Amino acid sequence: MDLTSPRTIRNIQEQFGFTFKKGLGQNFLTARNILEEIVDAAEIESGVIEVGPGFGVLTSELAQNSDKVVTIEIDERLIDVLDYTLAEYDNVKIINEDILKLDLKKVIDDEFNGEKVSIAANLPYYITTPIITKLLEEKLPIKNIVVMVQKEVAERMSAKPSTKDYGAITVLCQYYTEPSIVANVPASLFVPPPKVDSAVLKLKVLDKPSVEVKDEGVFFRVVKAAFSQRRKTLLNCLSANFPIPKDEISTLLESIGIAPSRRGETLSLEEFANIADTLLQKIK
Ligand code: SAM
Repeated sequence: MDLTSPRTIRNIQEQFGFTFKKGLGQNFLTARNILEEIVDAAEIESGVIEVGPGFGVLTSELAQNSDKVVTIEIDERLIDVLDYTLAEYDNVKIINEDILKLDLKKVIDDEFNGEKVSIAANLPYYITTPIITKLLEEKLPIKNIVVMVQKEVAERMSAKPSTKDYGAITVLCQYYTEPSIVANVPASLFVPPPKVDSAVLKLKVLDKPSVEVKDEGVFFRVVKAAFSQRRKTLLNCLSANFPIPKDEISTLLESIGIAPSRRGETLSLEEFANIADTLLQKIK
């Protein structure tokens, strides 16, 4: 069954009386070469977890290129469809759950003996950031995350300092991973086409975070504060978010060679780490 064919998609829709739910980000991919690029980039060792299989177009490609696929789909109506479209594979497990509520650590322990997995998905765009945040912050045994996302989101996650795309989510991604854009994908390659263009983003999870910090909680508090008001100076953003006198923050920034008048978006991860480690002494 060629699930990349719009005709096949239409036939399945008719057979199961299925209508797309916009609210669940249901835009199905019809480009075989993009599926292959996702699978290649995921560098699957043996196991892979997919988010949102839809009719199973990527799932079947993953099943052919791995020992085991666990795929998580929130839409109950799709479970019967997937049983039909994936009938020929005996290495696919479908979990009917909301990815954001699922205990992924347990899934990896139970289904993959706690071994490192790859994540591959054409994500539902309405929850891209919460999904990626969950995958990174839960510190799961993950090798690579290869996901289709809105093009702008892919650009934000792989942005460099002092560009308009650089923000708190950039720092989060680049703290835990090495991001790269694998392919750009026009809206016309989905059924139904979304309103935005897409890109395949690869997040290669690092063995240890890209910068060393004494306290991760303080590091991310500094990052959040620095981007809380983009037009304000670093000094104003920090003093609005930390209970430390402004002149002390100013002295502290100068002592590590960072001008208090700079904006958060100009700071590298090393500089954020340096600020967090120095601030830590003041708030302990
Ligand atoms: N993988 C298919 C493809 O590439 O054609 C479908 C991708 S579609 C962009 C996103 C899928 O995620 C849909 O099947 C949708 O029902 C599912 N989904 C939406 N929200 C979800 C959630 N919270 N948890 C798990 N799956 C979700």
